Amino acid sequence: MILIDGKSVAAKCREELKAKVASFEKKPTLAVIRIGNDVASSIYVNLKQKMCNELGINFVEHHLDANITQSDLIALIKQLNNNCDINGILLQSPIPFHLNILEAFKTISPEKDVDGFNPVNVGKLVQGQECFCACTPLGIMRLLKEYNINIEGKHAVVIGRSNIVGRPMAELLLNANATVTICHSRTKNLSDITKTADILVVAIGNPKFITADMIKEGAVVIDVGINRSPNTKKIIGDVDFANVKDKCSYITPVPGGVGPMTIITLMENLIKSYENMQNIK
Ligand code: NAP
Repeated sequence: MILIDGKSVAAKCREELKAKVASFEKKPTLAVIRIGNDVASSIYVNLKQKMCNELGINFVEHHLDANITQSDLIALIKQLNNNCDINGILLQSPIPFHLNILEAFKTISPEKDVDGFNPVNVGKLVQGQECFCACTPLGIMRLLKEYNINIEGKHAVVIGRSNIVGRPMAELLLNANATVTICHSRTKNLSDITKTADILVVAIGNPKFITADMIKEGAVVIDVGINRSPNTKKIIGDVDFANVKDKCSYITPVPGGVGPMTIITLMENLIKSYENMQNIK
């Protein structure tokens, strides 16, 4: 079994990006919109700010009151769309329930949509066109590439169909010529399907859900899950790592597998947007 070390791949990407940003005449700028005082949102935003600082990227945070109206949020996004000094716009989830997040994502200019949630980018992904794609699945593709894991012709099974992980993951694997099966909470006989997977991506949010009897000998197992262990309070994945690892050819640990790739992929998307915008000028 080979452990897929997301931490070291992310560190390598970070050094590459740092050198790239240092060569730019002007610093790229990421604008982040955070609404209210959700603790998780604030942690995610702080991590992104830290990474921007490390790479020499400008970080502009718009921290809005929890009671902001939809029209004020849309107005801010439009203002950021029109500001040519802003290269990427990110709306940090979760946002208060009274706001329509899909309308907000739709308003973010597809050219600055570094999270890949605008339906224009989602549509392009589905059509196999060049686009901004959600960072977690894109980071997983980078991990597969770094470890020279062949995707073409393989049976890839993705468990989970969220807009941020499962669906874009399945599209990326399909675009890389895998034969893809998507499973979800209504899937019948799940383990009959997972046992046929050459590549198994698990993104459900259920600790240690995948056990050795559910996987094929020699499978590549990618664990996206981030869960807190009810007993130890440690972060654990959706895969029962200790139980599964000896049956896999490759596996991502939690923490240290998929997680570190997400923020670095966001930075890559931002730099791609910056480079696109520089060419336009
Ligand atoms: P989500 O929006 O809650 O989606 C979970 C998906 O899993 C849904 O499609 C659901 O099916 C499916 N599911 C739930 N229980 C299932 C079961 N027993 N059998 C089969 N499918 C099942 O979650 P998410 O945002 O995609 O995140 C998934 C996990 O990844 C979470 O632990 C999250 O914290 C983690 N995550 C990690 C990163 C990272 O950077 N490492 C990034 C994002 C998310 P239905 O659609 O039928 O409900």
